Amino acid sequence: MVRAHMEMVKALLDGSRSIVALTGAGVSAGSGIPTFRGPDGLWKKQRPEDLARVDAFSQHPELVWEFYNWRREKVGQCTPNPAHMALAGMDKQVPNFLLITQNVDGLHTQAGSHRLMEMHGSLWRVQCSVCTYAREDRSSLPDMPVCPVCGHLLRPGVVWFGEPLVPGVLKVAIEAISSADIFLSIGTSNLVQPAASFYQLAKDHGAVTIEINSEPTPNTGLMDFALHGKAEDILPELVLGMSD
Ligand code: NAD
Ligand code: ZN
Repeated sequence: MVRAHMEMVKALLDGSRSIVALTGAGVSAGSGIPTFRGPDGLWKKQRPEDLARVDAFSQHPELVWEFYNWRREKVGQCTPNPAHMALAGMDKQVPNFLLITQNVDGLHTQAGSHRLMEMHGSLWRVQCSVCTYAREDRSSLPDMPVCPVCGHLLRPGVVWFGEPLVPGVLKVAIEAISSADIFLSIGTSNLVQPAASFYQLAKDHGAVTIEINSEPTPNTGLMDFALHGKAEDILPELVLGMSD
């Protein structure tokens, strides 16, 4: 990491009144949750991307539920790391702030972030695959949980590959990004749309764009600043420099 860049980013954050931060799986790597594309990302030799799909659920709901019940159990044992805590600190300090996460693990909420949008839903939400029933639920679920209203199969309250975002989510994200001074992209490979294009919207509206990731991504060269290293090391140092 270039130290001079770190100091410049610190100064920018300190003077900013409006920040949007986008996070991905890399932010939770320090809590022991594997990223999808990392070396530990496989589950029973299957690629999680092949199970987190709407067609996988219609073809093999039992397999998809087995995968999600396993994830709920593993993630339920994890706690927020210093990257989550630093972003919760930013939430308290910056007048206009929005944290947009692609993560479904609930760790930003657990860390105390309030101005948060979970754009891909949450592992801790279940919803009916047929009617509108939904609930927050952190308990251990049956292998194939059913809807108490209509008796059809419940599904995890997450947005799968091949599915549209929940209506309204994109509008809120676009509004916040369009008026931000600073756009942070943290721990995301920037391969999943539409989040991967948010930096462009920020740039078009005059924001300074900053990437914090352990390795370069397709967006690195297009960002104003790129800090390469672990989010759990870099973010606490950046937030420490911010004054109320
Ligand atoms: P990704 O796995 O594609 O990319 C993660 C990025 O983080 C990689 O570029 C990696 O180099 C980087 N990284 C790894 N450890 C890091 C660290 N300690 N600090 C900083 N960067 C680090 O994840 P994505 O871009 O979020 O896209 C994957 C999709 O899968 C998302 O849509 C998300 O919903 C889902 N997902 C969620 C979780 C979760 O909730 N924790 C976990 C896996 C996947
Ligand atoms: Zn139902």
